[in-house]
Order: sequence, then structure tokens, then C-alpha cells
Amino acid sequence: MGDEPVMATNDDASDCKRGAVQLGYWSDDYISYFVKHVERRAPEINRGYYARVKGIENFIQKFINKAGSSAQILNFGSGFDTLYWKLKDEGIQISNYVEIDFPSVTARKCYMIKRNKQLLERIHDQDGEVKLSATDLHAGNYHCIGVDIRNIHQLEDKLYQAEVNFNRPTLFIAECVLVYIENECVNRLLSWISSKFKSGLFVNYEMCNMNDTFGDVMLGNLKARGCTLAGIAHCKNLDTQKARFINNGWLGSSAWDMVQVYYAISPSERHRIEKIEFLDEQELLIQLFQHYCICIGWLSTEFSEFSCTDI
Ligand code: SAM
Repeated sequence: MGDEPVMATNDDASDCKRGAVQLGYWSDDYISYFVKHVERRAPEINRGYYARVKGIENFIQKFINKAGSSAQILNFGSGFDTLYWKLKDEGIQISNYVEIDFPSVTARKCYMIKRNKQLLERIHDQDGEVKLSATDLHAGNYHCIGVDIRNIHQLEDKLYQAEVNFNRPTLFIAECVLVYIENECVNRLLSWISSKFKSGLFVNYEMCNMNDTFGDVMLGNLKARGCTLAGIAHCKNLDTQKARFINNGWLGSSAWDMVQVYYAISPSERHRIEKIEFLDEQELLIQLFQHYCICIGWLSTEFSEFSCTDI
């Protein structure tokens, strides 16, 4: 089997996000342009996605506050992420935003952007040109590029086409992506970034603490859907997650499991979402949270104090 089951994980993530947005967990004015139908998921799944989105947003905000308008964002395995449009609506200025995924995924995204006035007008500079191929789109400071991130040569080439400036402070996001990639390829990617970019922060969301029965069940479910979890070895615990940055030339690293992330969200906000749906299985939610984490790595000291607090 090829990479198709891995690409299909984007449909699943996007469907889940669309469902949670519809119920009011968080707002996203753009997800419905990418996902038409709404499927109802279990409350613990919705809360899991809520914590994931909130936790990542926390670091995005902190990074942009620190780096200012010269900030650049590279979103690896971005799927149908809508962050660019959200930042634009909030009036947040950054210098460059690049979405990267397999060409078959970016082709679908580019097609949807091209056909949708609301999406297109936010990326379209008044006088700017939109350059579009079947799999890539370049417009102003928005770029969507189709490339397998295991291939560093092609990735580098595409990043030049996306006008990435290697001297600018750069935020790298990988939301549930690295676990599908062979360890040696992730190591190569992380060490290439640390040698190429001057300053930056990597935010990685994925599994952790997988060496128990609950972890085995989670893995079984993913494998049943045909996904090869080639990078699962690094999901053993928070230390193995952190070590992968340090071993690949990054200055420092920190990690939090999703129980910590969830309880760092302000009590009023937590109480708001806890009222959306009745949750029968509190224990199941905590177990899920224990098996996912956010790990950050930094290339320069200005991002070393970021933490999962006051979300
Ligand atoms: N980050 C998005 C989110 O959280 O909504 C999508 C997550 S989805 C679980 C994983 C994404 O990573 C898919 O879109 C998949 O195509 C992409 N991906 C996995 N391996 C990749 C690779 N080697 N190169 C490019 N994209 C990859």
C-alpha cells in the first residue's frame, strides 16, 4: 500500500474539526469551504480536537507576538488547515505563510481555493498575481506547495519557489504528521532545518506514552485503517519526543502531554466547552489526553521560555 491511507488522515482530521466547529467548540469561518458534510463524533473526540487546536494556537500566538511581522510560518502536512485565513481576518501581519503536503492533497486544496471567492479574495493582493499549477499556488505571502517532505532536495527547491527567507524567524508546525514518517526521514528533516534556518520554533503535536494497553488499542485502530506509523518509535514518551530535536541540532526542547495542555486552558473557557456536550466517560478522555502531546523545539534563545500556560 502506498501513501494514500496517510493522505486520507487529512479527511478524517478535517471532518472532525468541521464537526467540532459546528457544535461551537471553537470558531472557524473557513473549514466549511473545505469540508461540506458534517459527521457527529463522540464528545471525547471533539474535546480532544478542541485541546489540540487551542494548544497549538497558544504557541502560534506566542511566536507571532515575539517574532513580529517578519515571522514566517511553514505548516508541514497542513492538509485543509485554515490558519492562514484566520490570521488574515484577525489582522495579524506575517511575512510569509507556506502550506506543505503531498501533491494529491495540495491539488485538492488549490482547486477548492481557486473555486471559492471567499478563500481566494483573502490571499489575493489587489495588484498581486496568483500563480497556480495543478498542485501549487503562490499568491502574495500565501503559498501552498505539493511535495513529499521526506525528499529534502525537492522540499528545498519548493521552499525557494515559495520565497522562504532562511534568515527570518520561522515557525514550523507539524500537527499529527511526523508519526507517519520514517524516523530517519524526520531526523534528516529536523537536522536540515537546524542547519539551514537561523532562528525558529517547531511545534509538533502527536502521540506519546504509547507503551501501554491503551496505546496498543490506539495503534490497532490506526493500523486497521491501513496507516503505517513509521515514526511511532519517537512517541514512546515525552523524553523521546524532546530528544529528537536535541539529537538533530536544535538548541532546546520542551513537551507537555494533553492533560497538562487541557488544564492550562482558562477555567472559564473550559467550563464553556464542557457544557456543549455531556461527557459520560471522563476517564476515557483523560486516557486520550495522556496519549497525545505537544513538543516544541527551538533554534534560538528568544523562544526558549515558551510554555503551555495561560491558554
Ligand atoms: N495538519 C492537518 C491537521 O491537523 O488538520 C492534517 C493532519 S493529517 C492527520 C496528516 C497530514 O500529513 C496529511 O495531510 C498527510 O498527507 C500529510 N503528510 C504525511 N506524510 C507526509 C509527507 N511525507 N509529506 C507531505 N505531507 C505528509
